[in-house]
Amino acid sequence: PQPTGARIVTVPALSLAGVTHDYGKVRAVSDLSLSVAPGEVVCLLGPSGCGKSTILRLAAGLEEVQAGTVAIDGDVVGAPGRHVPPESRHVGLVFQDFALFPHLTICNNVGFGIRSTDQDARRSRIMAALGDVGLAHAEQSFPHMLSGGEQQRVALARALAPKPKLLLLDEPFSGLDTRLREQVRDVTLEALRKSGTATLMVTHDAEEAMFMADRIAMMREGR
Ligand code: ADP
Ligand code: MG
Repeated sequence: PQPTGARIVTVPALSLAGVTHDYGKVRAVSDLSLSVAPGEVVCLLGPSGCGKSTILRLAAGLEEVQAGTVAIDGDVVGAPGRHVPPESRHVGLVFQDFALFPHLTICNNVGFGIRSTDQDARRSRIMAALGDVGLAHAEQSFPHMLSGGEQQRVALARALAPKPKLLLLDEPFSGLDTRLREQVRDVTLEALRKSGTATLMVTHDAEEAMFMADRIAMMREGR
């Protein structure tokens, strides 16, 4: 039983506090604080060059934190003098340009980040992730055999298959034409809802942000 007066405190899936980031003399991010609750989809909306990708790179561990802290599930993974490498952060990443491995089948692309060595468990994870994006039939294909929209759905399945604590999406639909963009957007939102994965998505498209987000964070000039 909870002691009288106890409150249930939810630990954010992602929390950035007082983060400032410079590239040489260019200040990309300025004293920024932002959090994503478990299961929440937050969109970071702002014009090109305002620092959105830098935020994702800091969260993923692709940049070292210069000032402030980055925490995932309550653990500080980035702070001055502390840098947990990307592969130890349990974060899924999807970029604009799909970035599938061209020499691997769709099945092996999706299986890439799954650590389990039990072959049956592995295979059922892969097929479930592919099923969630409607591409179970494509498991033996190679990336070049699929359309851009299908490749992006595979990239999403690959990011979700290891069951990450946090998903980071950087303008994931901007490489697609209008018709495909809406279709992939729908599939993506459904897969995020089904998996309940906390997500930080970057976009410069306000309509897209309103469609996808539980909450929108507006960004301008690093703030
Ligand atoms: P966004 O994703 O919103 O377009 P970025 O985070 O990519 O913004 O960039 C923010 C600012 O930092 C921009 O002024 C950009 O030119 C600069 N910048 C980004 N990456 C680098 C880098 N590797 N070296 C120098 N400047 C960079
Ligand atoms: Mg960017």
